[in-house]
Amino acid sequence: MSSDAGIRGRRVVGMGWLWMVCFFHLATSLEEILLDTTGETSEIGWTTHPSDGWDEVSVLDDKKRLIRTFEVCNVAEPGQNNWLRTHFIERRGAHRAHVRLRFSVRDCASMRTVASSCKETFTLYYHQSEADVASQELPEWHEGPWTKVDTIAADESFSQDSGACMSLVAVQVFFYKCPAVVKGFASFPETFAGGERTSLVETPGMCVPNAEETSTTGFSGVRLHCNGEGEWMVAIGRCTCKAGYQPADDERACQACPLGFFKISVGDDPCHPCPPHSHTLLPGSRECVCQNRYYRSASDNSDAPCTGIPSAPRDLSYEIVGSTVLLTWRLPRDLGGRKDVFFNVVCKVCPAGSSGPCVRCGDSVQFEPRQVGLTESRVQVSNLLARVQYTFEIQAVNLVTELSSEAPHYATINVSTSQSVPSAVPMMHQVSRTTNSITLSWPQPDQPNGIILDYQLRYFDKAEDEDNSFTLTSETNMATISNLSPGKIYAFQVRARTAVGYGPYSGKMYFQTLMGGERSEMVQDRLPLIVGSALGGLAFLVIAAIAILAIIFKSKRRETPYTDRLQQYIGARGLGVKYYIDPSTYEDPNEAIREFAKEIDVSFIKIEEVIGSGEFGEVCFGHLKHPGKREYTVAIKTLKSGYTDEQRREFLSEASIMGQFEHPNVIHLEGVVTKSRPVMIVTEFMENGSLDSFLRQKEGQFSVLQLVGMLRGIAAGMRYLSDMNYVHRDLAARNILVNGNLVCKVSDFGLSRFLEDDASNPTYTGALGCKIPVRWTAPEAIQYRKFTSSSDVWSYGIVMWEVMSYGERPYWDMSNQDVINAIDQDYRLPPPPDCPTVLHLLMLDCWQKERVQRPKFEQIVSALDKMIRKPSALKATGTGSSRPSQPLLSNCPPDFPSLSNAHEWLDAIKMGRYKENFDQAGLITFDVISRMTLEDIQRIGITLVGHQKKILNSIQLMRVHLNQLEPVEV
Ligand code: AMP
Repeated sequence: MSSDAGIRGRRVVGMGWLWMVCFFHLATSLEEILLDTTGETSEIGWTTHPSDGWDEVSVLDDKKRLIRTFEVCNVAEPGQNNWLRTHFIERRGAHRAHVRLRFSVRDCASMRTVASSCKETFTLYYHQSEADVASQELPEWHEGPWTKVDTIAADESFSQDSGACMSLVAVQVFFYKCPAVVKGFASFPETFAGGERTSLVETPGMCVPNAEETSTTGFSGVRLHCNGEGEWMVAIGRCTCKAGYQPADDERACQACPLGFFKISVGDDPCHPCPPHSHTLLPGSRECVCQNRYYRSASDNSDAPCTGIPSAPRDLSYEIVGSTVLLTWRLPRDLGGRKDVFFNVVCKVCPAGSSGPCVRCGDSVQFEPRQVGLTESRVQVSNLLARVQYTFEIQAVNLVTELSSEAPHYATINVSTSQSVPSAVPMMHQVSRTTNSITLSWPQPDQPNGIILDYQLRYFDKAEDEDNSFTLTSETNMATISNLSPGKIYAFQVRARTAVGYGPYSGKMYFQTLMGGERSEMVQDRLPLIVGSALGGLAFLVIAAIAILAIIFKSKRRETPYTDRLQQYIGARGLGVKYYIDPSTYEDPNEAIREFAKEIDVSFIKIEEVIGSGEFGEVCFGHLKHPGKREYTVAIKTLKSGYTDEQRREFLSEASIMGQFEHPNVIHLEGVVTKSRPVMIVTEFMENGSLDSFLRQKEGQFSVLQLVGMLRGIAAGMRYLSDMNYVHRDLAARNILVNGNLVCKVSDFGLSRFLEDDASNPTYTGALGCKIPVRWTAPEAIQYRKFTSSSDVWSYGIVMWEVMSYGERPYWDMSNQDVINAIDQDYRLPPPPDCPTVLHLLMLDCWQKERVQRPKFEQIVSALDKMIRKPSALKATGTGSSRPSQPLLSNCPPDFPSLSNAHEWLDAIKMGRYKENFDQAGLITFDVISRMTLEDIQRIGITLVGHQKKILNSIQLMRVHLNQLEPVEV
């Protein structure tokens, strides 16, 4: 198809621009010119009709440029029909043509002459043709073959007489097209606007290089639409950059990721720098490959950093108890950039002296929780052989270890099962506390496995991180931790150290300092200071100290007769340091009970079995559970039914006394039941019962150090009681209780047995209704009832002897009177078999006639602590006394002068069953028997350790009797 356009003009004057299109066009659209007379300077040569109609003339435009125009002005003649026809215009693929005309039309009213055919409009026609077939006659010069576009008038007219009526200054014929464009990473070709003003020509696009279609709509294909004005609109689908390429040039291009950058997926995201330990080998990488010795595990994303294998575990250490080793270590310094880290244990047995290769441990060795894939930094290895040198390797591995050609890094440690560190300290007790300090004590470990050099205490504020812990070292099993904050809960752990190393820490125990304003729970911490000032000689200071003390007490205690009494007591004594209150000073004994013992609701108690019989009724084992607290074992002493008021008072007086004490080596009162029947005293449960029977059952089974440890505990308990000014009066192994951890605690605070005569109990005898445990009691207490802490020290010496002889009866079966006489004559008990000399010397010190010369419990505790720290001192044993002034007890059974032969002697010491052994060995005379050693006794077939000791003991006495034993000077 082709078109040409004809313009029929009339004689009009005026000027204006005509736009054929009414809606505005956008800068993005393009016009393709089919015809343009603008700028023509030579003849255009269009066809006119009639021939005297339109003239083509050259004129100067308003910018004084020469232009070609067509003019017509035949206004005087009627019936004017002047045609001006363009040349044939090639369509060139256009679907719709636009014509832009520049013309001037003169205002008819301005004509000086009568303008009979003056017109101010003209008409625009077009004619379509396949070919240029026009001639002077065809298409014909009337409307028929032409299609009218419109009648056109100027938008402004003016009256200037320029000579012409109408002047066609410029003609443009064009069509609109949408330009070739790259949009949304797709390129679209140039597209001609459609045939209608409203038509949208759909144009498919092509993704730019390295882009691909994204289908968000479900339709495939990327399209744009070209509208009637040559504008792109209505995009369908879009492209986006491929993996490894990022958007560039305002979505017109996809640019390869440079080296060191990657883009993992299709999309508009930019490239990202390679994650740590990875790189790219080429531009345009969709992922970064790991550098040498770095890997990604199968579960790592391909954009994750590359990681390495962990370095070796740090600070590998061990604790060994028996055939079990606990290995602990710290995390490797370098986890290879990963969070996952596991540990494998390799166990090897290595021959001593590095001769021969190590071999893997056998299957019998057990690992807890497991051998490989440990997530925690600890493992317990058990079932190890004794006296074997083991090597443990702790490998650190992670999820990339298996991808690595490197072997896992490991820490190694040699452990010899012939050496063991001490076992854990079983528990800790709070001795006292203030607002900024806590004093704790603890028993020695069940298995010290050597000499305990010291203890390390670790503590931290419970509210804070465990890593902020502090440590302190104590040479004894007690320590005061100072500089604490008031009212805070602290966690404590303790461990013992021997030459082999530290044992494991005990479990954590929590203790709280007092709140500011609370009274110290063991006032003696502060009191020496107060007393010290007073002793300085300033009376007013004494008064001030007492006043302060009174205020402190007042602030804590309820106002009770006890409170008054205590203050009066302190006031009366001035420098008094007595804290123990004798409950019998209370007019109403119930008041004392209320003051010192907690009432327990009987429903909290579960009695389970009878374990012994006390003076007032049965002693039972049971459980106590306060609501919301954990259940614990207790001993329950009951008061048998049918008791008198007096008996009830005596029974409960023990609780009133016990309730005033709080020390790890003094039996702890849980409380009393007085509001229901039977009346009960509830105390902590001591698994091993009383010390004398316990030792008799375990004869020969403890090391000297363990026995000394027990003695130390008893001495510490007594030191506490004497500090409280409490005199026990009945300290004896039978009144010491032993718990499951071999911790000894002083018990039995009942005084009743001293008051009433009881023929059934020969331990306690005395005149005038006063019963005294003669063998344990100091002479001044027996003679004139001078019971003091010094007389308790005497009894403590006897307890030492009981302990070292595994529960032997002091002075064997001598009568009480013989004992009194012997003591009076300065005779003392000999050292028990195998008793270290230092201990016997300490016993003898406790048995000084002059009580002031006896050591204080404080001194006894430190003497025992020294022995524990330096057990070599315990090595020396001897059968002789080192004190000429105090020969060994000679007045003891058997009474050798009355015995005539070995058989009688053996009967006397209840060892008659060995008569044959002695006969067969030819041991008949005392002279020969008195020279026997322990080995001789064993050689003649006496295998029971207890019997060996008994016979050896008696032989020692025999030697004394025969004067064979020379005292040794020190
Ligand atoms: P007592 O009346 O205190 O002499 O107690 C009588 C016996 O009961 C003692 O010899 C112990 O065997 C036993 N017993 C007393 N108290 C306890 C306790 N707290 N734990 C275990 N056994 C105890």
